[in-house]
Amino acid sequence: MNRHERRRLGVSAVPGISGEKYRSMRRMCGWEGCLEVTEKPPPIPDGWVWLLTYSDPQFVVDFRKIKQPRHDKVLCPTHAKALDDLLKQLSVAAAPSVGSE
Ligand SMILES: [Zn+2]
Repeated sequence: MNRHERRRLGVSAVPGISGEKYRSMRRMCGWEGCLEVTEKPPPIPDGWVWLLTYSDPQFVVDFRKIKQPRHDKVLCPTHAKALDDLLKQLSVAAAPSVGSE
């Protein structure tokens, strides 16, 4: 059952906690070893980011239709920057055009 199915049914990813209660909870950074927690429930504070990755074979425009979520987390500002530093920047990662060498 994915996040959206859980939300529709009013259940959460955490057994024993309703979907409504889960949505109203503070969030802990999803970076391994980090214990930073938001001061209040969503919306998340400035600098925090939502991190959603999935492995569906095709790009999914409507994220409610994601079938294979891998990560559905938030990152604190420190780890949002750490992730940015690890990933290629769009201008660098742009693929060469077809026929260019
Ligand atoms: Zn963190």
